[in-house]
Amino acid sequence: MPVHKSINLICLVLPCLRGLVAYFGRLQLGLVTWLCVMLMAMTSPLAQNSVTGMRIGAVTVDEVPGLRLVVETRLPLQAQLSLLRDPYRLVIDMPSANWQLGALPQRGDLNIGPAGAYRFGSPQPDTGRLVIELDQPAVPVRAFTLPPASGGERFVIDLINVGDTAFMVAAAALKKSPDAKFAQPPTDLTAVISPTRAVSQQMKLPKSKQAMQGQQTAGSGKTSNTAPSIPKRKNRRWIVFIDAGHGGKDPGAIGKSGTKEKAITLAAARDLAQQLAATGKIQPILARRDDRYLRLRERIRLARRQQADVFISLHADSAQSGKARGISVFTLSDTASDKEAAALARNENKADLIGGPDLGAEDPDAAGALLRMFQRESMNQSSHLAAAILKQIRDMPGGDRRGHRFAGFAVLKAPDMPSVLVEMGFLSNRDDEKNLRNATYLRKLNSRLTSAIINYLSYYGPKL
Ligand SMILES: [Zn+2]
Repeated sequence: MPVHKSINLICLVLPCLRGLVAYFGRLQLGLVTWLCVMLMAMTSPLAQNSVTGMRIGAVTVDEVPGLRLVVETRLPLQAQLSLLRDPYRLVIDMPSANWQLGALPQRGDLNIGPAGAYRFGSPQPDTGRLVIELDQPAVPVRAFTLPPASGGERFVIDLINVGDTAFMVAAAALKKSPDAKFAQPPTDLTAVISPTRAVSQQMKLPKSKQAMQGQQTAGSGKTSNTAPSIPKRKNRRWIVFIDAGHGGKDPGAIGKSGTKEKAITLAAARDLAQQLAATGKIQPILARRDDRYLRLRERIRLARRQQADVFISLHADSAQSGKARGISVFTLSDTASDKEAAALARNENKADLIGGPDLGAEDPDAAGALLRMFQRESMNQSSHLAAAILKQIRDMPGGDRRGHRFAGFAVLKAPDMPSVLVEMGFLSNRDDEKNLRNATYLRKLNSRLTSAIINYLSYYGPKL
């Protein structure tokens, strides 16, 4: 073929090719767009869910009365929870959900348990927001979904008053994991059975709010100037729970010269309580005031019931090596910081075996997703408390070299309370034993612990 003819051919073919590429490019682009739209229509939030009902009822969790809230929806609900203060409120965001609650007013009175009122709305066109206004620092301790019974899908939340510190822990935890999944119903099915009644339009609106009704940006989640003001507790003091390790039939470690750990911890706990009370800012609560046996779980339960702001457990154990001495500060962790810490925790946790089988013990794995989330946050808080203590004891034996240590101590497993365990010294070491029997030494150690606790609470604790 002559050269000019092949050039002509190329000139002819190239534009066609370009056209074809452009055509298929556009086709491909169109196809992708169409696929995306189809995919979004199938998976998207815009596959609208609807809130079709709200029910409330009384519930009891760990012997504390609270509120059960049930949100009924057409499709399974994916909710995001957040807790806000001043005033206390729980905000439930429901992506891709609209409201089909008939004539139910957008805000109304609840007056049950810790909940004063509700309001709902849509901060964005495809998001439903329900706000529960709380009279007390209550947090969701259970949240789970249930398949439809006679009506629609059900999203269940149980709220109980847990005190300011636990509220702050829960609020921080939810802020870090707004998309947490709450799909698992509790293993204890009796917890699920609790009579509820529908939130109805017959429920009276709170008088103070009627005037503002209609002007509210319902469900804005912002501080409402019509919300009930939270009465400040008069003479509010921080609550510090002091746990004297061991007791009764559990003597704890025995020193070289026969000193019993349970006696040292009780003496130290009493002195610490006195020093904390003397600050005028702290109400100390002792786990035990005498020589009695207490299960580890019971110690946590007592502290939670008092809504303690800090849990401090005092010990003076034995180490395998007689040379080990000085103060150590421990917080909870799944993995121990060192072998000695692991051995100490193993030994401590045996205290419960002395009391025989614990029939009321809960399977720790059965704790809900929410409580596990809160526990992770309280472990962070515990680390701040440990750091505050270490700062104060630098010049005391061991204070400058042992640092913050971790292990799986069962007594530190409160899900919503900063908790530390202080090994005040080792009874397996002669020098430590001598110190621990000396009231002046204990007073000095306790004055450092008092300063540390005040420093921690002033910075991280609820404001007095
Ligand atoms: Zn001990």
